[in-house]
Amino acid sequence: MIFHPMDFLIFAALGLALWAQTKVKGNFEKWSRVRASSNLTGAQVARLILDKEGLSHVKVEHSRNGTLSDHYDPTAKTVRLSDPVYAGNSISSLAVAAHEVGHAIQDDTRYGMLVLRHRLFPLANIGSQLAPFLFIGGFLLNMMNLVGVGIILFAAAVLFQVVTLPVEFDASNRARKKLIELGLIANREEKGIGNVLNAAALTYVASTLMAILQLIKFILIFRGRR
Ligand SMILES: [Zn+2]
Repeated sequence: MIFHPMDFLIFAALGLALWAQTKVKGNFEKWSRVRASSNLTGAQVARLILDKEGLSHVKVEHSRNGTLSDHYDPTAKTVRLSDPVYAGNSISSLAVAAHEVGHAIQDDTRYGMLVLRHRLFPLANIGSQLAPFLFIGGFLLNMMNLVGVGIILFAAAVLFQVVTLPVEFDASNRARKKLIELGLIANREEKGIGNVLNAAALTYVASTLMAILQLIKFILIFRGRR
């Protein structure tokens, strides 16, 4: 697997992904310095939205895994927030806290794309781990069947990433709506919330784009060798 014309596009997508990552950090830090007028912390905002949604059973916990480790754990029905989000009362804290609550609401309402994402997870997980070995082994041994299986497994991993996109966009939309609806942010603060959430969405788009391009590359090589 030497240089392939598709690598140009893959490198471009990689550049976009790296740029998006610095943008996420930059926007998060920028809006971390702006205190939200509600003066509530991320944890308080998460609790408020959850209770309003009838999700009092969903816990809000302090995650100790560092910045940007925020997530919703569907098994434990728990929203875990990192230091700056949990205890912070900035625009960034509120945006991220509300986004994670968005995932809890998706879980509660059995949002279709989230259900599909959970179903795809086992296969996608195996796919992303096994596919590289099948590609390398298949090409070295000139066993194109192995490469074919690798492509199918890798496609499952790519599909998982594609399905993640609407899940993330929807969580951010819900976050924005709830923050406004419940009066947790002022009108002039909407821009900051949008900046923080859009940058995060861009990282998902960039990494998905990269995965799709890689899949196309493998399919082209596979077809060329047969
Ligand atoms: Zn998310």
